[in-house]
Parts: sequence; structure tokens; C-alpha cells
Amino acid sequence: KKNGVIAPGSLGFVNAFSSASASQSQRLAGKVAVITGGASGIGKATAVEFVRNGAKVIIADVQDDLGHAVATELGPGAACYTRCDVSDEAQVAAAVDLAVARHGQLDVMFNNAGIGGNPVRPPLGAVDIADFDRVMATNARGVLAGLKHAARVMVPRRRGSIICTASTAGVVGTVVNPSYSASKAAVLGLVRAMAAEMARFGVRVNAISPGAVATPLAMETFGSWFPGKSAEEIRRIIEVDVSSMDGTVLEPEDIARAALYLASDEAKYVSGHNLIVDGGYAVSRTAK
Ligand code: NAD
Repeated sequence: KKNGVIAPGSLGFVNAFSSASASQSQRLAGKVAVITGGASGIGKATAVEFVRNGAKVIIADVQDDLGHAVATELGPGAACYTRCDVSDEAQVAAAVDLAVARHGQLDVMFNNAGIGGNPVRPPLGAVDIADFDRVMATNARGVLAGLKHAARVMVPRRRGSIICTASTAGVVGTVVNPSYSASKAAVLGLVRAMAAEMARFGVRVNAISPGAVATPLAMETFGSWFPGKSAEEIRRIIEVDVSSMDGTVLEPEDIARAALYLASDEAKYVSGHNLIVDGGYAVSRTAK
């Protein structure tokens, strides 16, 4: 500042802006994340987004070929793949331990793996009870295991962000498999309970509830209801039935950006939330 005039280039906000833009491109610099279901769809897009933002990621999935391919694409320094069936607690524990062994810490746990359940929409009387157990084992018990083992390593460090993928199917009545809806409502219950418990340890716990996202899971689920229709026709059905307010189906990257926010320190006081990312679908259903 000279004679009351602030010299160009010495403006605080210019510097603040340039450092903000630098940090914005590396919003997870130095952080380590485990992403379950990271071989495909939302998990894969999130792995890409996290690495782009400076994180190291462990991709934990049951699709070995796809998982290895994602890790290779992201580079061995930034990503690795490990087989992890989230319905088996020991495998979830091992994925968390791998992150710590490899990188010394775990900052972000993305409990994202999920299955749609019985591919054919049954009338309620024909609901397969065994299918309920299978869906709950992955979608709900798998998330509980992820919460438990992430907390095990995060609580002693008094920091960490745990993100769990729920669904609008757990929030509003939908036409999808009722077992799936129940499993996603369970995720929301787990998130609320664990966020309350973890608050005093500095560990944040949040959910993301996507609307319909164009991933193999959604295409298979909807495709099974309308056999013989092409992928393009299925996409249009999703657009009409369960799409966002502007009539488009969400892309995995739309959810990855929400996960990036919750993972980053920008969300350092955000805990116990369900971040609905659906272009207004759920709220328009609730208003009816
Ligand atoms: P996707 O099928 O592309 O990806 C899911 C991944 O989870 C797959 O790679 C799969 O191999 C993995 N997985 C399945 N069971 C597993 C297990 N037992 N252990 C480890 N990995 C397992 O589907 P997606 O749409 O990306 O699904 C990701 C999450 O998003 C799921 O929890 C899903 O329920 C949720 N979701 C999806 C939509 C949608 O419209 N696509 C909407 C709301 C919520």
C-alpha cells in the first residue's frame, strides 16, 4: 500500500484468490481414501475425481478386472485395487488396514458399494425374502462394516470423513425393489447414529442420496423391467420416470463432485447430513 493506494498485485484478495484456485484443484491433497464399489459407476467416477484432487485411493470391489483397470488408468502412485466383498466384515477391515499400511492413514471412507437386488420388479406378494437378506448384507451391513473399521483408525487421529451412498429410494416411495429401499433407509439410519457418536471424535459421517444415475446398476435394474428395449430407450424411460428436474439422467460425475465436497475440508463442520443429489426429484415427490 503506497500513499493510500493499494498497488496492483498486492491486493490480499488476489493472493487469496490464486491460492484458493490452486487449492481448489487439489482439494484432497495428501488425503487417503478407500472407495468401495470403486470399479464402476459412481465409485469409479469418484476415484477419478479424488485422484484429480490430489488424493491417493484404494479401490475396493469384487470386479477384479474392472478394478485393476481403474487403478492402472489412475496410475500406481495414486491408486491401487484390492478385492473386497463388503458383505464380509473381515474383507472391509483388510481394505482399511491396507490404506493405513500403504499410506500411513485413512482420511476418507466412501462406503459406496451397492446392489439393486432382484432384477425383476415383483408384486409385493412375490418378493423374495432371501433377496432381502442379500441386499441388506451388501447395502446395509457392508456400510456398517465400513463405518466400524473406518472409525477404528480415524478416531485415534481425531479426524476423518466417512461418506455412505444411500439413495432417493431410501427417502421417498419409489417403484424400485422394496428390499433396496429398506437397505438405503438403513444406510440413512446408520449415518445419523454414527454421526452423533463420532462428532466428539472429530470424525464426520454423511450420506449422499443420488437420484437415477446412468450406471450399469441403474441400466440393469430398469432394463430388467422392460425386456427387449435398447439402452437408449431405457435411458428415456428413466428420464420420464425418475429423472432430475430438467429431464436428464444424472451422470456418475455429478455424484462424485458431491463426494468430493463431503470428503474435503470445505465440509469440515458438515456431519450427519443426507446430501440428496437428484435434481429435485425427491422433493417434488414429497410435495405431492
Ligand atoms: P455400479 O454397479 O456401476 O457400481 C457398483 C459397484 O459396487 C460395482 O463395481 C460392484 O462390483 C460393486 N459391488 C457390488 N457388490 C459389492 C460387494 N459386495 N462388495 C464390494 N463391491 C461390490 O452402480 P452405481 O450406480 O455406481 O452404484 C453405486 C452406489 O450408488 C450403490 O450403493 C447404489 O445403490 C447407489 N445408487 C445408485 C443409483 C443409480 O441410479 N445408479 C441411485 C441411487 C443410489
